[in-house]
Amino acid sequence: MSTSSRQGMATRAIHGVSSRDPQGSPHTPIYNTTTFGFESTADLLEVVDGNRPGSLYTRYGMNPTVFALEEALAGLEGAEMAWAFCSGMAAETALFLTHGREGIICMGDAYGGTLELLENQLPLLGIKTHLILGHELDRLDALLADGARLVFFETPTNPALELFDIPAIAERAHAQGALVAIDNTFASPVNQQPLALGADLVVHSATKYLGGHSDLTAGALMGSSELLMPVWNWRKNLGSMIAPETAALLARSLRTLSVRVQRQNASAQAIAEAMLRHPRVERVLYPGLPDFPGHDLAARQMQGFGGMLTIEVKGGGEAATRVADRLQLFALAPSLGGAESLVTQPCTTTHHGLSPEERTRRGISDAMLRLSVGLEDVEDLIADLEQALEGS
Ligand code: PLP
Repeated sequence: MSTSSRQGMATRAIHGVSSRDPQGSPHTPIYNTTTFGFESTADLLEVVDGNRPGSLYTRYGMNPTVFALEEALAGLEGAEMAWAFCSGMAAETALFLTHGREGIICMGDAYGGTLELLENQLPLLGIKTHLILGHELDRLDALLADGARLVFFETPTNPALELFDIPAIAERAHAQGALVAIDNTFASPVNQQPLALGADLVVHSATKYLGGHSDLTAGALMGSSELLMPVWNWRKNLGSMIAPETAALLARSLRTLSVRVQRQNASAQAIAEAMLRHPRVERVLYPGLPDFPGHDLAARQMQGFGGMLTIEVKGGGEAATRVADRLQLFALAPSLGGAESLVTQPCTTTHHGLSPEERTRRGISDAMLRLSVGLEDVEDLIADLEQALEGS
C-alpha cells in the first residue's frame, strides 16, 4: 500500500493504490480481458506457483484492475488484505463457507438476504446457524461454548438502528476462540472502523456507500491475510469475482467516499432533528440524537452517525404508506448509500417476508419508514418530507 494507515480516510481513499500506470494515468486502466499471456512456461509457472505477483485469469481475481481496487479497499478498513466480489451476498457467502462451517451466531437484525441464507440455505449444508436478537445477548456465551466459531452482526442494524458494542462482543467471542465478522455496510468505513475496535473481518455490500451512486453491484471482504487467504479458493470456485469494469467504477467511487459520507451524515442529522419536531412523526431513530438509546455507544465507537435514519409516522402503516407514496425527491426503492435519497417501508420490502408477529418481536412496526439520505440540498429533502407528511 502506498499510504500509511495513520493517514486520514480521504487521503487513503485517493492514494491507497501503489501500482503506477506506465502511461501516467492516476487511475488503473480497465483490463477488460479474461486471461493474460506469458513469454514462456517457466514464466507462467512463476505466477501460478506464487513466486512472483502477476495477472493470470480474471475469474481468479488475478487482474490488475481488481488488484488495484482490493488495495484501496484494504486501506479503507485499515486491513492487511481485501477481496472484491460481484455482490455483497457473494462476499458473505464466501465468508460463511470459509469461516462459519463450525457454526454461526448472527446477532440482531440483519439484511433480509443474509437472514435467509443463514436460516434456510446454510443449514441445508449441515452448518448450524443461530439467530439471536439484541435482547438475547445473554445466550451468546452458551452458544459459543456449544462450538459456534463465527459471530456475525451489523451495527447499526437495519431498520431500527440498533447498536452493538464491538470491543465488548469481540472480547467475549475471542475468549472462546471464535472470530467476529461485521457487516459495515450501513456505517461505511468513514464512520466506523470495526477492525480497529477488535473485529477480525469486515464485509460490505459495496453496492451501497462504497459504490455510492446506485449504479453498481459489488461486495468486499477485509481482514488479515491469515483469514483471507482461505477465502480465495471459495471465491474462485464459486465464481463470484467482480468484473473489471465494475472494479474500475467502484475504485473511482472510493475516491469521493469520505466527502459523500460526511455530507450524508450532516444531512441525516439535520433531517432527524427536523423530524423530531414534526407533529405527524411519532418517533425518530437516529444514533446522532442525544436521546436515542444507542447514542452514547455510537459516540464511543463511530466517527460519524451515518446517513440512515428511520421515522415512525403517526397513524400506523397506512399513514406511512401514504407518506412514502407522496415523497418526490426520496425515491421509493429498496437500497441505500447512493447520491439519490431513497425511502422504504420495511414491512413492504426488507421485512415483508416476516409474519407481523415476527416483525413486532424484532421491533419493526408497520409505521416505520427507512430513509437513506442522499446528496441533495438538505432543505429540499426536509421540505419534501414535510409536504409528504402533511398528506398523511
Ligand atoms: N448487507 C447489507 C446491510 C445490505 O443492506 C445488503 C443489501 O441490501 C447486503 C448486505 C447484500 O448486498 P448486495 O445486494 O450487494 O448483494
